[in-house]
Amino acid sequence: MKITVVTAEAESRRRPRPLNDALQVLDTSGACRITVTTDEGIVGRGTISFGRLDRGPAVLASLVEEILAPAIIGDDPALIRAIRDKLWRLTDYHGTAGLALLGIAGIDIALWDLLGRATGQPVWRLLGAQRDRVPAYAMVGWSNYDLTELQRICARAIEVGFRGVKMKVGAATLAEDVARIRATRAAIGDEPLLMVDANQVFGRAEALRRGRVYEELGCYWFEEPLRADDTAGLAALADALTIPIASGENNYGKRQFLPLFEGRAVDIVQPDLRRAGGVTECLEIGLLADAFNIPYASHGGGVHLHILAALPNALFLESGLATDGTAPGLIDGAYRLPEEPGFGGGG
Ligand SMILES: [Mg+2]
Repeated sequence: MKITVVTAEAESRRRPRPLNDALQVLDTSGACRITVTTDEGIVGRGTISFGRLDRGPAVLASLVEEILAPAIIGDDPALIRAIRDKLWRLTDYHGTAGLALLGIAGIDIALWDLLGRATGQPVWRLLGAQRDRVPAYAMVGWSNYDLTELQRICARAIEVGFRGVKMKVGAATLAEDVARIRATRAAIGDEPLLMVDANQVFGRAEALRRGRVYEELGCYWFEEPLRADDTAGLAALADALTIPIASGENNYGKRQFLPLFEGRAVDIVQPDLRRAGGVTECLEIGLLADAFNIPYASHGGGVHLHILAALPNALFLESGLATDGTAPGLIDGAYRLPEEPGFGGGG
C-alpha cells in the first residue's frame, strides 16, 4: 500500500464567548483537518485544533500541503516511525518544534487512523492495551466565570459522573484564588478531586507561595506553575511541595520531556497530542515516563483515549462537558474504548 494524496483543510471561527486562563484569551475555535489517502482507497484522518490565531489553521494547512505532504507521497503508510523521522529531518532547518511539529502530529494521527481502518481495528488494539476504560476529569473552571457560574458548571461536571474538576488559578491576588477554590469545593462536595492550573503565569517565588496554599486547601495537583521550559524551577518546586506538580502540555517532542523526568521536575506528565508530536510520540513519552514511575494525564481528550488505554502509567483523560451540559459516553467516571476501526468518528 502506498500514500497517493495528502490534503489539509482549514476552518476557523470566532468563539461567541471567549475563554480565559491566567495568560491567554481563547477567542477562536479552529481546526486543520489532514487526510491521507492510499492507492487502495483507504483514508486516514487527523485533526489539529486551535484555540487562538484565527489564521493558524490556514498557515498549518499550507505547511502540510506544500512542505510535508510532497515528502511522503509514495511511502508505505505502515512505516509510521520512518515517516516521522523523515519529516523531522525535513523541518529541522527552520525548526521542527512549533507549527511544523503540529503538522507532523496531524499526519501521524492520520496514519494511525489509516492503519486502523486498513486492518479493521480500533487504534488502541493496535497499540496493545493495558485497560478497557480510562478515568476522566473535567476541565470546566475558566477564569472568566464568576463564582456563581464556576460553582454551577463544576457541580454539573460532578453530577454527570466526572471524578474531578479542574479550575484555572493565577488571579491577580492569592485571596481571589482562595475564594474561587473554596467556592468550587463547596459546590462539588468533599470527595471529588479538584485540580488547579496556573498556565505558566507564576515566577518561582510566587509559585511556591501560592502552591503552599493550594496544598493546604487539598487541591489534587498544581498544573503549569512555571514556564514549561523552567525545568530547574519545576524541580525545586516539586521538591518543596507535597502537592503533585503537573506539566508538559507546552513541551515539544520526547527529547524535551526527558530532562523533566531525569530532573524529577514533574510528578505527573501531561503531553498535548499536537505539540508533543502525535500518537507515536505521545506513546513513547508515556512509556519513558513509566520507566521513571511518573503518571501520565493527557492534555485534552479525543484520540488521547487510545494512547491512555495503552499506557501502564495512565492516570486521567482530560475531558469536559458538551455544550448541552452532558458527557456522552462517560460511565462511572470513565470512558470505554470504542470498537470502530481507526479512531472511529474522531481523529
Ligand atoms: Mg493546562
